[in-house]
Amino acid sequence: MRSEIPFFPPDLFEHDRKVMLDVIRDIGRDSRQNFILGEHTREFEEMLRADLGAADVIACGSGTAALGLVLRAMDVGPGDEVVVPAFGCAPLASSVLGVGATPVFADVDPRTMVLDPESARGRVTHRTKAVLPAHMFSVMADMPRFTELAASHDLRLLEDSAVAQGAVLHGTPAGMWGEAGVYSFVQVKSFGMPGEGGAVVTRNPALGKRVRMLRNHGQQERFVHRVIGTNSRFDEIQAAFQRYRYAGFPARLARRAEIAERYTERFAPLADRGVLAPPPGRDGRCHYVYCLQAEERDVLREYLAEHGIGSHVYYPLALPHQAAFLPCAPVGERWPNAERASARILALPMYPHLTDGEVDRIADAVCEFARHRRGPQPA
Ligand SMILES: *Cc1c(COP(=O)(O)O)cnc(C)c1O
Repeated sequence: MRSEIPFFPPDLFEHDRKVMLDVIRDIGRDSRQNFILGEHTREFEEMLRADLGAADVIACGSGTAALGLVLRAMDVGPGDEVVVPAFGCAPLASSVLGVGATPVFADVDPRTMVLDPESARGRVTHRTKAVLPAHMFSVMADMPRFTELAASHDLRLLEDSAVAQGAVLHGTPAGMWGEAGVYSFVQVKSFGMPGEGGAVVTRNPALGKRVRMLRNHGQQERFVHRVIGTNSRFDEIQAAFQRYRYAGFPARLARRAEIAERYTERFAPLADRGVLAPPPGRDGRCHYVYCLQAEERDVLREYLAEHGIGSHVYYPLALPHQAAFLPCAPVGERWPNAERASARILALPMYPHLTDGEVDRIADAVCEFARHRRGPQPA
């Protein structure tokens, strides 16, 4: 009988379950009874910091919290504008609103679906304090151009690298292009864990110090509050588990890259049949999820479901069209590439333990679908 290939696999942590339970038992029985911001968190931060060559890495409550902490540390607040992509996840806009500033939506590149530097440049005003490009499903944002944009307009550059941990563009890791970057460790992300967590990574030690205070009620020494902070502390059990799992991360990422390459190779001939794959190559690629653009996205999605293949739509609506963010969307303004992306995007299963056979079955189904659809128009 044909097996189902889920989009969200139920067995992500199967191989590490024993370690997870051991860690819970060890920390639970430890006489220190230290469950947050202890030795495991410090070691976890230091491991990431050393690996990246960052000035500081600060583990915190989530990727969303990490964005908010950096914005606060940068003193972004009321009256300030932050240019964000019109296509992406809610925290891009909500984290800016959370510090009292205004997100200004710029359009994305039609092919890569990441923030378009030219569109971002067009949204810069005298109020703009920062620009917040996000790496998306398969492709990192054009960081050399955002670096140039930030420098020429005196803007802070915050990199939403929540999904791009381990990705590298021109030799520089995702997260290290901006003055600060963020990672998310929520279950589904490439270095996900069984729970909530995130990190701020920064090249700027002073900024790191501020984030460190902000995540723990604005204190450096206990009960001495230098700034107004929040509670965004990291869990010791998760830190211990992630320290263990980090050794296998490069291999899991490499397997994701291999799957992405296999898909892209198979889908290259479908471009004139209404199914567009992400650009090939490995530089500046992140392999969190694999997203196609399909003219008949919903029909394809149904077709795949009929063939026992799960898929997912990230994201069905551009951010300025979400009810929550409508007040930040200037009336009459359009983001045509973001709107197009939200109508066409479809994510296929991609996790390290997907077998070659399953990858081929998914690719076969997509190719089969495209074969029966519109062919190239006769000249
Ligand atoms: C997942 C994600 C976040 C938020 O991370 P959480 O840990 O879920 O809060 C932020 N930005 C992007 C681009 C993401 O994909």
